[in-house]
Amino acid sequence: MALKRGIYRALEDVVGPENISEDPLILDSYAWRSGLVATPVKFVPRFEAVVLPRDTAEVQALVKLCNKYKLQYKASSTGWGGYCDPGGPDVIKIDLRRMNRILEINEKNMYAVVEPYVIFAQLQAELMKRGLNCNITGAGSNCSALPLAAHQGIGHLSQSGSYGDRNLLAVEWVAPDGEIVRLGSLGSSGEWFCGDGPGPSLRGIIRGNTVPLGGLGVYTKAAAKVYHWPGPPTFPLEGVSPHYKPSYIPPGFMIHYIHFPSADKMTQALRKVGESEIGFIVMGFNPAMVCANKATNNNEDLELLKQYTAEVQGPGFLLIMAGNSPRDTEYKKRTLQQIMDECGGKCLSDVDDPESAGGFIWRFTRVTGSIRETCRATGCFAGEVGGTDVFGLMRAYIARASKIKQDFIDKGLLHADGTDPFVQSIEHGHQGHGEMLIRYFPNIPEAAQAGYEIFMAANKTAVEGRFGVPAHVWSDAIHDMYGPYTLNYTKWLRKIKKTFDPNAASESSHYISAQE
Ligand SMILES: Cc1cc2nc3c(=O)[nH]c(=O)nc-3n(C[C@H](O)[C@H](O)[C@H](O)COP(=O)(O)OP(=O)(O)OC[C@H]3O[C@@H](n4cnc5c(N)ncnc54)[C@H](O)[C@@H]3O)c2cc1C
Repeated sequence: MALKRGIYRALEDVVGPENISEDPLILDSYAWRSGLVATPVKFVPRFEAVVLPRDTAEVQALVKLCNKYKLQYKASSTGWGGYCDPGGPDVIKIDLRRMNRILEINEKNMYAVVEPYVIFAQLQAELMKRGLNCNITGAGSNCSALPLAAHQGIGHLSQSGSYGDRNLLAVEWVAPDGEIVRLGSLGSSGEWFCGDGPGPSLRGIIRGNTVPLGGLGVYTKAAAKVYHWPGPPTFPLEGVSPHYKPSYIPPGFMIHYIHFPSADKMTQALRKVGESEIGFIVMGFNPAMVCANKATNNNEDLELLKQYTAEVQGPGFLLIMAGNSPRDTEYKKRTLQQIMDECGGKCLSDVDDPESAGGFIWRFTRVTGSIRETCRATGCFAGEVGGTDVFGLMRAYIARASKIKQDFIDKGLLHADGTDPFVQSIEHGHQGHGEMLIRYFPNIPEAAQAGYEIFMAANKTAVEGRFGVPAHVWSDAIHDMYGPYTLNYTKWLRKIKKTFDPNAASESSHYISAQE
């Protein structure tokens, strides 16, 4: 149903006629989903209108109008994820693409302040020029660098660069009712260096391990912690995508895919890599994800998968080390050798090959391979995404949850990429996170259903095995599945929603509603 003219004009008065649309063509382009979520849906419900504010004042005015007219809004940064969609009618989209500035890179205190449409690729390039680097969500450097957009923000660099929850510093927040709240040091001194104070600390409200997925107002600016970058100011790339690689491997950079005789040995080795702090990037990828990172088409992908699977002796992980000096490089090399000797680790030859190594280092550091790793083989994917907890626990959870996958592979519904899940190590093993990739064939209706069944079976495993709440808990239905097993946290989450959003203006179909 079209918006009443008076409401449309009020919204238009805020952003100007160039920055609002209710043209069906535009609205349908926001409603199209390629099947990245585990449903065969192609079109999701349309927004009533799309508005493109240019700054915080305009966002605030839009939010206040939504509260006044009992309309809902949903903000997005790049709009990449399915969680940017509305759950039903009477929702407008606040598309933040005009808010695209890096506001500050503070080299001394090591943080960066960004608006929502700054993407990681943009921020990382600027940081590298200054000897700094940022964590990037595993979803890819095409995603928003705002540490409040990516679902968790865990990714390839999390071993040395942590993730969204831990990197978040001060925030400017247009709360669901339209009040502007400046969190952390921003609220007391106008500076961005701390998320918890001096100044109001609401970090546990605006996000936990995951974000409220649009259901709790709009984040208009945020600071994130940044890290040391031991590489060159720009990467020496040659060639044209997808056939490009660095002309040389920067001094001190080393990459290996190391495989082990058993999962226990691999976990032992990962712990030691963490303890000795030799890892720049550590990803518990299975061989399928490594070959998808390199392959430039599906035939190459399948050939590599055959080659890698034949060579590996058991589960493994991808490791990039980056020495800060010749002495540090030597320390890292020797430590790794010792760990491999103790745990029976061997290197996959293709990743060690100097012809491939540079390309791998670049694609993993830049996080450009993610869409190949997830979507190349079948055109879409679903995933079982565990929580973030002690590494061994998360490895045990995802290994148990993955067992069911083989049945669906045998039925020809999923890409036969093995059942070994991938496990990420965070902050040198301080935490861990496990995921199972479900690459289903979208042209087979039962295949999408398989994705759903695996997801539900994994939920059951999490509850029965007491593995904690996974990361993918979005919507009332899934929260309510976990609440009774986890001290009814849902009661508190609903109180937060009700207190901060009395008019339910911030559309929350992917978060939680205030209703019991
Ligand atoms: C192929 C693929 C791989 C993925 N891998 C990972 C992974 O490894 N790790 C991980 O953590 N996640 C992963 N995800 C999920 C991922 O975090 C999000 O899909 C992605 O980050 C979204 O892009 P974005 O950051 O630009 O946010 P958007 O897609 O714009 O938004 C994501 C959510 O946050 C809300 N939101 C965005 N910006 C704002 C704002 N400024 N104010 C209020 N709400 C806002 C939106 O409403 C939406 O619900 C993956 C997703 C895909 C499709």
